[in-house]
Amino acid sequence: MVLAEFVTSGAAAADLPRDGAPEIALVGRSNVGKSSLINALAGRVVARTSATPGKTRLINIYRVALREPQGDPERRRRVAGALERTFYFVDLPGYGYARGGRSAESFQALAQVYVNARWHPDAAGGPATGALLLVDARHPGLDNDLAAYDWLATLAQPAAVVATKMDKLTRTERQRVGRTLETAFNGPVLPVSAASGEGLKELWRLIDRLLSKHPPKLNPRQASSTCPR
Ligand code: GDP
Repeated sequence: MVLAEFVTSGAAAADLPRDGAPEIALVGRSNVGKSSLINALAGRVVARTSATPGKTRLINIYRVALREPQGDPERRRRVAGALERTFYFVDLPGYGYARGGRSAESFQALAQVYVNARWHPDAAGGPATGALLLVDARHPGLDNDLAAYDWLATLAQPAAVVATKMDKLTRTERQRVGRTLETAFNGPVLPVSAASGEGLKELWRLIDRLLSKHPPKLNPRQASSTCPR
């Protein structure tokens, strides 16, 4: 069972969780479907979705608690009510939406706040973190998604790439897009759809690996890079 709730929105390191639970940062273009995916994983609406790109300019934080319903009866009794795993989704603002807005500055500035707080070598030892890079399956290999990939790879944190909105592709497109994505991102890309539920089970498994001792890492494509705009 998944219990998920919105915790807070913020723009400063002080707004980040302080209970030491692990975090998964969600990175992607504005409108890529991050909120929809959070809601699909939660099984209910916890994140506000929007048809208007570039609206979220804060870091949104969601607490997720997983209870394990399986296991032998004795174990189930012992863990009854206890949370098997708690972590946070840290939803960074979407990048790549410039029109009339300041989302470019927001993403860069807030991503930097997060990196300094959690991933910087001099960070004060934040909780274990990982990242999911979400890319729209209909637009494989966009420059700013590749820049985001390179940026995450440079940070050398546990991270994986997820292709959203797979339900919008035809069967023939799926094969072509799958190959294009894996070539562009130099490794596996998990196809999902918040609308149809495709890939959600696999996404939970991926999240589990990101939070585990043996998390996936991105294969670097190039040596240095900066945060996308
Ligand atoms: P965010 O800006 O990344 O949080 O994106 P949202 O979750 O708000 O989604 C942006 C738009 O894409 C909304 O109109 C959603 O309904 C739509 N959308 C998101 N995920 C999917 C999906 O899996 N399939 C389809 N068909 N539409 C989606």
